[in-house]
Amino acid sequence: MDETKTYHGYQKEPDKPSVHGSYGSALFDPRWKAARERILARDKQRCLNCGSTENLQIHHRQYHFSKSLNDFVRPWEYNQKYLITLCESCHSKGHRLYRVPVKTVK
Ligand SMILES: [Zn+2]
Ligand SMILES: [Zn+2]
Repeated sequence: MDETKTYHGYQKEPDKPSVHGSYGSALFDPRWKAARERILARDKQRCLNCGSTENLQIHHRQYHFSKSLNDFVRPWEYNQKYLITLCESCHSKGHRLYRVPVKTVK
């Protein structure tokens, strides 16, 4: 079983090409780093699913598409309630099993 491959396969989902694609470079943005640190601290640096403290990532529970921007909301602009800490393994599993809902906002 090759989880990495499957995960990347999901990311290239053809009907939502820009969801993860647009996040690629944004994830190196210092504003995302700061938001990420806040979520990690809130979640006590543990995966909320299995409790692991390794390879932690931040998952967006919803993606927000802004009508006024005509683009996806930047990852650091989400309310903290939409962001959760998951380890890499739970995160990729989650993306394989569930489609992240996209919500249109102003
Ligand atoms: Zn986990
Ligand atoms: Zn995710």
